[in-house]
Amino acid sequence: MGGFGETIFAEMTRLANETDAINLGQGFPDTDGPPSLLAGAAHWIGQGVNQYPPGPGRIELRTAVAEDRKARYGIDLDPETEVYITVGATAGIAAGVLSLVEPGDEVVLFEPMYDSYSGVIALAQGVRRPVTLRPSGSGPNARFTFDPDELRAAVTPRTRMIIVNTPHNPTGTVFTPDELAIIAEVCRDNDVIALADEVYEHLVFDGTVHVPLAAQPGMAERTLTVSSAGKTFSVTAWKTGWVMGPRPLVRAVQTVNQFLTFSANGALQLALADALRDEQGWVRTQRDALQDKRDRLAAGLTEAGFQVSNPQGTYFLMADIRPLGHSDGVDLARALPRLTGVAAVPAQVFYANEDEGRHLVRFAFCKRDEILDEAARRLRAFGDRSQG
Ligand SMILES: *Cc1c(COP(=O)(O)O)cnc(C)c1O
Repeated sequence: MGGFGETIFAEMTRLANETDAINLGQGFPDTDGPPSLLAGAAHWIGQGVNQYPPGPGRIELRTAVAEDRKARYGIDLDPETEVYITVGATAGIAAGVLSLVEPGDEVVLFEPMYDSYSGVIALAQGVRRPVTLRPSGSGPNARFTFDPDELRAAVTPRTRMIIVNTPHNPTGTVFTPDELAIIAEVCRDNDVIALADEVYEHLVFDGTVHVPLAAQPGMAERTLTVSSAGKTFSVTAWKTGWVMGPRPLVRAVQTVNQFLTFSANGALQLALADALRDEQGWVRTQRDALQDKRDRLAAGLTEAGFQVSNPQGTYFLMADIRPLGHSDGVDLARALPRLTGVAAVPAQVFYANEDEGRHLVRFAFCKRDEILDEAARRLRAFGDRSQG
């Protein structure tokens, strides 16, 4: 793992703290999850749920996950054998890759990509095969998508897995049924397993519908889907996630995960089982609030002179820095806290082909309105100075 240094998120957060800047780098909300969920955790800890839960997770949560998946997407899962609780989606992704990817196997994935994918592919001694998402269209209607021919060309006889993150961090793209159908066809034709990272499944805007990859024809038997409580309920510190899929794939995850973390926090699992059933209204309200926050920050960034894409989901938006006369996102992100009092993350770190993302910076909008307004004010002042 010699090539993996400190993550850019840690560096930017430290810079933000040193300069007292507003941190729109790392994607975590600055408000709490639903009160009943927080009270539920305290309740179960008080009730003595403080020893190892079963490795696969508390059956209460596995059942609630299966019911939720059925209610929202019509997907049938046996909670006993097809749902497995992990320490966040991160551990689910790690166990999925480590259990299914052998040394030399190739993993196709879309860049920009979430940083943990590269780390666990390296741990598995697999080989990354990135397919670049690029904006189609321009201005606020630009939406990042892939060229189907580039996807097909990335698959070789060594391809074992494709990682598909929808809604997608950092571009905010929610893959359409047509795009998912192309991915599914590539998987079926080449006997490739899919790992679907759907941690933002609830956080979609403007009436956009999230469609699970596992719902595509022929995909249920070859897809491991990962989701998590952190983003849905604004409890990113809880690190409670779930892996869903056909029995053989879930059993593979279990084999690895028993030696990674063995089990996840039991009291939190019980609290989340209730919240999945009872707090869908809270989740919808949160989603609508996030949509407004996206618009608030996008307007500020646009006025400051950035060219902003319009994410259909997640916590993030991508901003092109070239209209401001800059060309290197890493240089700008390192300077931004001192120049403007706002910290962001250079998108380059999400790319294997760094040139593809050099001109982009990622901002998180999952912050209180007054924080976003102040960030927008600071960035506008910077834009006026840059352009004036
Ligand atoms: C936040 C995030 C995760 C990690 O989820 P945890 O439950 O906190 O481990 C995984 N994938 C993506 C795309 C994320 O943004």
